[in-house]
Amino acid sequence: MTEDTTTGATYDVPTMRPSSAGDNSAALPALVLVSTPIGNLQDFSPRARDTLVGVDAILCEDTRTSAVLLRAHGISTHCLPLHEYNESARIPGLVESMLAGKRYALISDAGTPLVSDPGFRLVRACIEAGLPISGIPGPNAAVLALTLSGLPPHPFLFTGFLPPKSGARRTALEKLRGAEMAGLTATHLFYEGPHRLAEFLADAAAVFGDRPAAVARELTKHFEEVRRGPLPELAAHYAQHQARGEIVVVIGPAPEESASAETLDTALRTALAGMSVKDAAAAVAAATGLPKKQVYQRALELARE
Ligand code: SAM
Repeated sequence: MTEDTTTGATYDVPTMRPSSAGDNSAALPALVLVSTPIGNLQDFSPRARDTLVGVDAILCEDTRTSAVLLRAHGISTHCLPLHEYNESARIPGLVESMLAGKRYALISDAGTPLVSDPGFRLVRACIEAGLPISGIPGPNAAVLALTLSGLPPHPFLFTGFLPPKSGARRTALEKLRGAEMAGLTATHLFYEGPHRLAEFLADAAAVFGDRPAAVARELTKHFEEVRRGPLPELAAHYAQHQARGEIVVVIGPAPEESASAETLDTALRTALAGMSVKDAAAAVAAATGLPKKQVYQRALELARE
């Protein structure tokens, strides 16, 4: 186990020796999005390594964090910082040098770039400039948590981080619940920090009720844990036990329930806010399984109100 003294993150150090550098730089597109480990440094493919060796420079979210991975895999390519705060300012220069033939790789501190991480604006700029881009797939905390949760793997809805303040978080959760009332059926995926987990679960239990859920912690690391149970139970557990490490919360889809009159009205009101009477009735009828004619009739009444 190695500790990155700049971030305090710990990593399992790979026992394998780095493969020899690839000589594929000529074949590389202008920008390659390279996924990196989310904890275990061995979760890094030979092609990812060859790409990082072959590019002119690696765009890193935090060069000190990435140094741990690069050192472990014997990669000495020059690193340039590209993070939330300088991404927009750096784009014109990067696009210009890519148009002139330079090749870059983009990595984030962990996992898949762009997923709750920087890079989206750069990708858009490359596409707009007609520059070729590609990616080396690899770890992603949300997808790993989803597959380990025991909850339906699809459809899933990845929201990432919700606002840190309780009021805004509650509003965001209620919006998702509103979408469910209008027919959304999906397993939900959230990122959350350890110090907010208990509050998050309490809010989620208040909005989603007694739903099956899972808290996936420290995936691929020494203290990996997946705790499964109804949301209120998980909320009570983490209210008593301070969570540590990195966390993904997975919440099961809305149960298929025959709609009560109140549920029907709430679903219709939500749908009518953004759709015509006909479309709202069709969406709610499909979601609830109630007869189309009955739902349409009620939608008309509510629209008149
Ligand atoms: N791009 C990354 C990915 O592909 O998963 C996510 C980056 S986001 C800034 C960091 C968040 O991802 C953490 O706060 C945590 O919620 C989640 N995460 C990252 N690594 C994790 C791990 N090993 N176990 C559980 N969650 C993790």
